[in-house]
Amino acid sequence: MKLEHIGIAVKDIENQLRIWRDLLGFSLKMISETPEQKVRVAMLDVGGVTVELLEPTSEDSTIHKFIEKRGEGLHHLSFEVEDIKKSMEDLKNRGAILIDEIPRKGAHAAKIAFVHPRSTGGVLIELSQREERD
Ligand code: ZN
Repeated sequence: MKLEHIGIAVKDIENQLRIWRDLLGFSLKMISETPEQKVRVAMLDVGGVTVELLEPTSEDSTIHKFIEKRGEGLHHLSFEVEDIKKSMEDLKNRGAILIDEIPRKGAHAAKIAFVHPRSTGGVLIELSQREERD
């Protein structure tokens, strides 16, 4: 598994860009909206890893709920895998609790699935598979 991106929950992307782009000096790759997940996403290149700033666009967005409960900050780590079904199976066999039983369609990847933070020391982990395969 390779670290692909770090997801950070934020109330306001423009505000956080003052830190990530202006203060720390990383370059903004793009800002896009993912209506299915009710978020706006800003992607920055942070030394080969992507930091994605996730801003809720609606009160029923999971990111909105996360911020209400825990405040702004680290939301998830995303690892790229070759075969998501196999990785899910392996993790399950080693005792991990999966949030998704079957992979779902991701915003930037072909398939994603989440591992419950209860089984990973409080950090939400996303598995992502870039290419469609069967
Ligand atoms: Zn992500």
